[in-house]
Amino acid sequence: MSPARRPAAAPKSAAAPKSAAPKAKSPAAKSKPARARKQDPVAVARAWARSLEKKRPGLVDFVLDGLADAYGRPQWQPRLEPTSELILTILTANSADTGAEVAFGALRDRWPSAPTPKDASLEPRHFPGWGGIGLPDLPPPDWAAVETAPIPELTDIIRPGGLANQKAPRIQAALSALRANGGSYSLEFLREMPPLEAREWLAAIPGIGKKTASVVLMFSFDKPLMPVDRHVFRVSERIGLVPAGSDADAAHDYFLAMLRPEQAYQTHVSLITHGRKTCHAQKPDCDHCPVAPRCRYFDRKAQ
Ligand code: SF4
Repeated sequence: MSPARRPAAAPKSAAAPKSAAPKAKSPAAKSKPARARKQDPVAVARAWARSLEKKRPGLVDFVLDGLADAYGRPQWQPRLEPTSELILTILTANSADTGAEVAFGALRDRWPSAPTPKDASLEPRHFPGWGGIGLPDLPPPDWAAVETAPIPELTDIIRPGGLANQKAPRIQAALSALRANGGSYSLEFLREMPPLEAREWLAAIPGIGKKTASVVLMFSFDKPLMPVDRHVFRVSERIGLVPAGSDADAAHDYFLAMLRPEQAYQTHVSLITHGRKTCHAQKPDCDHCPVAPRCRYFDRKAQ
């Protein structure tokens, strides 16, 4: 990895000189209540995973087997090249997947990187875990042209994806960060990086969080990460896979502590599918749910 590709390291705090004598606390400091120590989220997640396995043994396998019986066991297959995956994921934020696909297709049409190959399949290819109808196999947009496009034009082009005023600058900022940090728009170098290091690299880009970074790395490189979107979080909180009252950001750590690496892809795709088809936000269809016998929403004493 070239130094330019390293994510910016957090500044180290200066070490105190060894010989420095400890300062006496002022009376005011003595009377102050000790500030609560911030807990390490990874340690918290590991403790949760141990406790869950002790109190509700085999829950993860039960859920995955039940969902596999209902929807099949998804196998990883490549989707888009990673930079396209990143931009498409930005386009899906708080929007329908079908709208994001239309917006992505419009980027390809407006700023093509190459003429459409004559033998290219123009039939949309549906992606596992994806709620849209798919995209045809075509070369990605010309990222340099997208990065330097006038914002009003870019906003107009991606309008079918929703929230275009927010997403246009976010897309340009992400492309600029890729070029500045990696020297090109390609994210291929992340293939060789350990999963959490790669997630950290991507999540250091403004506007990219753990979920988007995990989506790119899981779907492009089959890295064992676990993107937690609203479906995944809703279903897993109802079942009790993650603690009640936690949030989607923390759930990324809970899942990484709970899952074996080979379970990550299936867990993500199956929980999304279940959230879309059965465990709806309003009126979940618990009577036809294979997970119901161990779901805490269905039976709050379920083991
Ligand atoms: S039992 Fe109901 S709430 Fe629980 S996972 Fe199934 S559909 Fe969702």
